Amino acid sequence: MKFKKSQKLYNKGLVNLVGAVNSPVRAFASVGGNPLFIEKAKGSKIIDVDGNSYIDYVLSYGPMILGHRHKKVQKAVTKALKNGYSFGASTENEIKLAKIVCDAFPGMDKVRFVNSGTEAVLSGIRLARAYTGKDKIIKFSGCYHGHQDSLLVAAGSGLATLSLPGSKGVPEGAVKNTLIANYNDLESVKAHFEKHDDIAGVIIEPVGGNMGVVIPQNNFLKDLKELANKNGALLIADEVMTGFRSTFGGAQEVLGVEADITCLGKVIGGGFPVGAYGARNEIMENVAPLGGMYQAGTLSGNPIAMVGGIATLSTLKKQNPYKQFDAVGVEIEEAILSSAQKYGVDVTVNRFGSMMNPFFTNKKVTNFEEAQTSDTKKFAVFFWEMIKNGIFLPPSQFEAWFLSSALTEKNISKTKKALDNALKAVSE
Ligand code: PLP
Repeated sequence: MKFKKSQKLYNKGLVNLVGAVNSPVRAFASVGGNPLFIEKAKGSKIIDVDGNSYIDYVLSYGPMILGHRHKKVQKAVTKALKNGYSFGASTENEIKLAKIVCDAFPGMDKVRFVNSGTEAVLSGIRLARAYTGKDKIIKFSGCYHGHQDSLLVAAGSGLATLSLPGSKGVPEGAVKNTLIANYNDLESVKAHFEKHDDIAGVIIEPVGGNMGVVIPQNNFLKDLKELANKNGALLIADEVMTGFRSTFGGAQEVLGVEADITCLGKVIGGGFPVGAYGARNEIMENVAPLGGMYQAGTLSGNPIAMVGGIATLSTLKKQNPYKQFDAVGVEIEEAILSSAQKYGVDVTVNRFGSMMNPFFTNKKVTNFEEAQTSDTKKFAVFFWEMIKNGIFLPPSQFEAWFLSSALTEKNISKTKKALDNALKAVSE
């Protein structure tokens, strides 16, 4: 397998781009080597500039749940382009997408569209503060909520990959109202409530996806909601990754919890820049122009992105691939475990529907600390062997793999063979 053209573009990219990437998770910092440059993608496959074809489990870090260039999405967006790209005024499709989203999440009467998951969460946090009149926010170690200042502490994703505890450039004042708790540890949350009476909200990824996949144990989410509300704080579900992915109604539907504020992104735009935050009427009425919490956006509710979102979500609803995701997920999970056993490699697999990943550890992984027991050197060997076998995975131990509904049986059996080869390589 050759990477000559990718290598050339990487060197060229270094001149005017930072590290030749526009998001640090795309760098190959923790697996070695240089990032691949992509030419195109279709269905379950992604193809780099050297013509190497891979089965794609990155899926743009989640959005491409239908696979790439699904014909319904492509057709709808191509048609919409003919009417103009941005108006700075309302369109009917914003109302249509809002209805699809509010119908899927019972805790949402109203929604506001923004351009990214980061914007969705920073607005959701502001809303919790506006509604409660309090300042402090509890977040969980290992959860990533985008790159806003106040939540860039003990964050997962690229910070975990690069072993950064936080970000330079974030003033102390910006994080002074951020309290850190441990995932799956209600006592660590209780301790904050006992000490502080000005907590506006508790933000959580209902299923962790940015420290690798970490699943809430027992009734953690339900207990968290009860604890937050009992103390006059809101539960903010960051479903940027899990929304429309865990099932159509997100992780909240699977886990039987209704958050006070829900933040969305990724799948909701089907590959176009869309984020959203929403809640019950009494909460959303605080947002301008109805209320005094200001939040705006030149490109928010962008007409092309709205059409991409509508086409993606309506196709997804019709396909209803969630049972199938589970079946494919089980198959891949079992393949990892049986090859790992065959070659004597310590592996723990965490999976929630169509989100999964192996950790190279013999420990159960239920929080960030346990996730960090994974042997990242072994992951690097595993990653490159998967690439050589035609499988595109996120270049980090601390990112989730995603399934798309475009995966075929042939893709899955190729993946299983690749997993066997990669785990053998790890054992050598
Ligand atoms: N929240 C979660 C749970 C995420 O996984 C991400 C991105 O990976 C974000 C927020 C930030 O979204 P975006 O990258 O669209 O700004």
